[in-house]
Amino acid sequence: MSGEPPSAKPWIPARLTLPALTKAAKGCEGCELYARATQTVFGEGSAAARVMLVGEQPGDKEDLDGHPFVGPAGRVLFQALEDAGVDRQSVYVTNAVKHFRFEERGKRRIHKKPAAVHITACLPWLEAEIQVLRPDFVVCLGATAAQSLAGSTVRVLRDRGKLLPNPWATALIVTVHPSSLLRMPDRSQYQEQYDLFVRDLKLINQRAA
Ligand code: SF4
Repeated sequence: MSGEPPSAKPWIPARLTLPALTKAAKGCEGCELYARATQTVFGEGSAAARVMLVGEQPGDKEDLDGHPFVGPAGRVLFQALEDAGVDRQSVYVTNAVKHFRFEERGKRRIHKKPAAVHITACLPWLEAEIQVLRPDFVVCLGATAAQSLAGSTVRVLRDRGKLLPNPWATALIVTVHPSSLLRMPDRSQYQEQYDLFVRDLKLINQRAA
């Protein structure tokens, strides 16, 4: 593979089913991130899900557990989905990048944003998930997912809550990543941003009706 840019492509199985993808992704070495992370954290949810939610990358807890959105940001996400009236069973959750990127500070592993090379390398997994699911809605949670699927011209704060043209689904929506809410300095700002997040997620129901 010398001279070729990092890519998950050689690991994508010929037969595209969620179980086949999940199994194959466990062995992906398409970019450097597999080497230090605990494991691949692949997407999860029903193959019949009509909504695909795409985050950035697994966090520390997800990396250890092997499941997406099981940490604090996941709790915010699933509460917001419930408050938006979106059935949890109707969603599939995944990340733009399937391995945890971090830097060590003492005994702690601090989240490090994936670089463009990691996002591009991991895109074949996301494309394969979309091909299997054929969702009505793809919701990009934060800038990394938006960059991966909607390109670098999309701005989350400017374009949130709109339906964006895309080759992936009937509708593509961008909104913030739930982890951004956890960084709000006080309760009132958290509530304000939480309400906007729920408003964005409600768009799924309005358009599905
Ligand atoms: S981040 Fe994606 S491309 Fe890189 S090793 Fe992990 S699964 Fe493969």
